[in-house]
Amino acid sequence: MDHLRDVERLFGDDYGILTFTGENIRRRLSPAALKRLDQTVQFNEPLDEAIADEVASAMKDWAIENGCTHYCHWFQPLTGATAEKHDSFLNMDGEGGVIAEFSGDMLIRSEPDASSFPTGSIRDTWEARGYTAWDPTSPAFISINGGERTLCIPTAFVSWTGESLDQKTPLLRSIDALSIQAMRILRVFGTDKGVHRVQTTLGCEQEYFLLEEDAYQARPDLRMCGRTLIGCDAPKGHQLDDHYFGSVPAKVQSFMADVEARLYALGIPAKTRHNEVAPHQFELAPLFEGTNLACDHQMQTMSVLRKTARDHGMVCLLHEKPFAGVNGSGKHNNWSLVTDTGHNLLNPNDKGPGHLQFLTFVCAVVRGLDLHADLLRATVASAGNDHRLGANEAPPAILSIYTGAELERVLDRLEAGEMSDFKHSTKLDLGTSAMPKLERHPGDRNRTSPFAFIGNRFEFRAVGSTAVPAWPNAVLNTIVAQSLDDIANMMESKVTTDMDEETRCHAIIEVLREIYSEHKRVVFNGDNYSEAWHNEAEKRGLPNLKGCADALPAMASQKARELFSTYGVLSEAELEARLTVLYENYSQVMQIEARTLLRMINTMVIPAAIRHQAEVAEAIAATDAAGVDPASVRGRLTDLTARLTDLEVACLEVESILESLPEDEEANIRRIQDEMIPAMNRVRSNSDAIEGMLPDDLWPLPTYLDLLF
Ligand code: ADP
Ligand code: MG
Repeated sequence: MDHLRDVERLFGDDYGILTFTGENIRRRLSPAALKRLDQTVQFNEPLDEAIADEVASAMKDWAIENGCTHYCHWFQPLTGATAEKHDSFLNMDGEGGVIAEFSGDMLIRSEPDASSFPTGSIRDTWEARGYTAWDPTSPAFISINGGERTLCIPTAFVSWTGESLDQKTPLLRSIDALSIQAMRILRVFGTDKGVHRVQTTLGCEQEYFLLEEDAYQARPDLRMCGRTLIGCDAPKGHQLDDHYFGSVPAKVQSFMADVEARLYALGIPAKTRHNEVAPHQFELAPLFEGTNLACDHQMQTMSVLRKTARDHGMVCLLHEKPFAGVNGSGKHNNWSLVTDTGHNLLNPNDKGPGHLQFLTFVCAVVRGLDLHADLLRATVASAGNDHRLGANEAPPAILSIYTGAELERVLDRLEAGEMSDFKHSTKLDLGTSAMPKLERHPGDRNRTSPFAFIGNRFEFRAVGSTAVPAWPNAVLNTIVAQSLDDIANMMESKVTTDMDEETRCHAIIEVLREIYSEHKRVVFNGDNYSEAWHNEAEKRGLPNLKGCADALPAMASQKARELFSTYGVLSEAELEARLTVLYENYSQVMQIEARTLLRMINTMVIPAAIRHQAEVAEAIAATDAAGVDPASVRGRLTDLTARLTDLEVACLEVESILESLPEDEEANIRRIQDEMIPAMNRVRSNSDAIEGMLPDDLWPLPTYLDLLF
């Protein structure tokens, strides 16, 4: 308890505790209701609706005591953001007056207008009805915005026809599917005693940039698109490696502390903060949690980062690639499996059959990734992440697994039919007497792999910084659930309880060696950035889906449809709708970028260039009149004019593509990726060249130098 008080003193003073958890609930609910709610929260048992009124009333009292006048169902529609519609607690009392009221019905269900959210044509504009449904496993919280406090209730969002229109529903379904299959594996190993459920854990490392508010406001591209569309390189980037883990600027440190206090109040334990590779780039990592909660918390974290930055006179950019030529931002997705008794199933510490159980889960991940590399790739495909994946500072678009040398050795032994325990850490002597000897891990780390085993979890690094983590995690859980299902089928038929331990181990090893040798082509422990790997991956038949137009169609395959419907994660209609939303989103984002680019070129870059053209032309005439040869000045005019001409041509190309984009969604994004983006790049390169020629006082935008240094 004393430790807890320390923590409260450190983090909790500014805002109090803003979640309906712990004491906030315990003080207000009857023991019977508390017990029933606990059954649901701890063991995922169906919610007893009889307690809803009592919980709602307690929640309202707590919210009002904490300054709330309104409540909302908080959900994650397919927009990539969160949504909330506020209602006050006011109601008629039936006697001509008003009372503050919040009933069980209001807690459990609300009715937002479904047709105003992306539905991927599941619903028409006139088919408006949708429901949000309370998720009792994710605590209600109070959000503070402009000093005003609102009670937010995490919910799932479905259409009136019952289809999921959100990110949470498939995630919850995938966790259930995975739990069922993982439990079967535990039964094979006889380790299921006392275990009710297996769930996944998640820790998202969030990278972001911070910019001064004034500089941001002066750039239409940052305001419209969250990234710069033009901009000549600054003379310095991160060649000197002087920003990564460098000392955090004072202003940023106070921003970080404020973010951490706000997150603490929301029950989100921020753990790590540091400077990232690029100038003005930083990272925040929380303590990991169950995936459903971690995903809700991640959405809140992005929102807290944005709001807090504004309060500190800055803007937080979550875009994957705000600046060309400078490191982009990701959201490393640390993922593992844990029993409800707290056993991390990806921890290789056990020996004997326990060790084989660990290898079974590893093999399920290897198999899932090999079978569905294309689908998992599709989950991280977005207009923003297209600039990052494969751009030599982020993992390539080829999905492979890094096991590390030690795990690879153990897996190779397994393939040879032998069981080899994991070597544990060794001591590292620094060669100086006073300093302690260091524990050295059995394996190195690999920064270039999109999916890496790091000791007791996998880190999926291809996820983009703006991503809604629920979607990649739902897919990851589902592909692993399928492999666990198939492995359990094989093991259940080969392993029986009457076998002695040695025979059982042998039968299990037979199953695993078959799985591993069939799917190990997806394992790669070298440099994922290298040309050699790209060639090797092609030989191995691994997909290299470079952009959205290549990656997204994987969601429409028969293989994907079967996967999601078999495990009840998404129906065919839901999957199709989701794909339509992703196509539309990519297309809209890119059209907005193209229009913003044209506007900036036409109203800012070209006018500035023409002004300078006139100045230089005047200078030529004046130089000539003074009897001096104006050749060098004339050269400048020639270069500038040539660039202007090329710029105009490229703009016309972008314009004509914009006006003639095909209706068909797949053809539409194909044209954008193959034709419009290259034309936009031509616009950019000419504009950047012009920027390098114009006098500083004529250039109408803050430059990369102004923004980043
Ligand atoms: P890195 O060295 O990879 O940058 P960080 O310390 O920045 O590591 O982040 C690691 C993240 O992984 C943290 O969010 C941490 O809570 C999370 N993590 C650790 N163990 C697990 C686990 N078993 N399951 C899921 N996430 C985990
Ligand atoms: Mg990190």
